[in-house]
Amino acid sequence: LLRLDAATVRFGARTVLDALDLDVAEHEIVCVLGPSGSGKSTLLRAVAGLTPLDAGRVLLDGADQRDVPAHRRGVGLMFQDHQLFPQRDVGGNVGFGPRMHKAPREQRQRRVAELLDLVGLPDAQARAVATLSGGEQQRVALARALAPEPRLLMLDEPLGQLDRSLRERLVVELRQLFGRLGTTVLAVTHDQGEAFALADRVVLMRDGTVAQSGTPYEVWQHPADEFVARFLGFDT
Ligand code: ATP
Ligand code: MG
Repeated sequence: LLRLDAATVRFGARTVLDALDLDVAEHEIVCVLGPSGSGKSTLLRAVAGLTPLDAGRVLLDGADQRDVPAHRRGVGLMFQDHQLFPQRDVGGNVGFGPRMHKAPREQRQRRVAELLDLVGLPDAQARAVATLSGGEQQRVALARALAPEPRLLMLDEPLGQLDRSLRERLVVELRQLFGRLGTTVLAVTHDQGEAFALADRVVLMRDGTVAQSGTPYEVWQHPADEFVARFLGFDT
């Protein structure tokens, strides 16, 4: 579904994505792990079309996305700092977007209720965004990202602000949900436990390239190098 082919992004003299190659198959859940500043968010933004490549290619279903604007790529992105619309209520945030607006009103409302149920906020539909806690806002942002059923759903630290018990519950629920919907997911997290529980495959990034890619089991059993082993917390 997604292929990055020597994708390169530079900010001034800094190369943030360094000829990065990555494939994501349809229905696959891939979690990207890596130190702060290794280029994880930039990777997602480049796929979404929000950050242009300086070299290399982003392909979706085999088609080069160079001239395809962000809103035509059919990918969803939930940002690290989720950015809800403060002037809309919760339901208005989740039901936002052209795909949702084409649906009949009743169907849209049903979908919004379903999604809010899913993220554990069944009664929040009419609430003002400003009255939600940080974690609640994050869950609304997650529901909003799921709403248009994008062919590729990208999540940047989707559970970052939630407490551990809620995170553990949501990871299990999300995995089931993605499986049920057949969603293809590319998610960034710095929480190893979360990545290992959610992912079919984990990708470890280092300085804008892929240090290792494999199933959670493979990576855990056979870290590719000292960097990966250290990152996973092994004594080396
Ligand atoms: P974190 O785990 O902290 O979110 P990250 O892996 O997501 O880190 P990125 O946000 O992709 O890291 O940033 C990678 C590097 O690129 C950082 O050093 C960052 O400062 C730099 N960078 C990102 N966006 C820009 C920009 N628009 N202009 C200049 N530098 C940028
Ligand atoms: Mg980031």
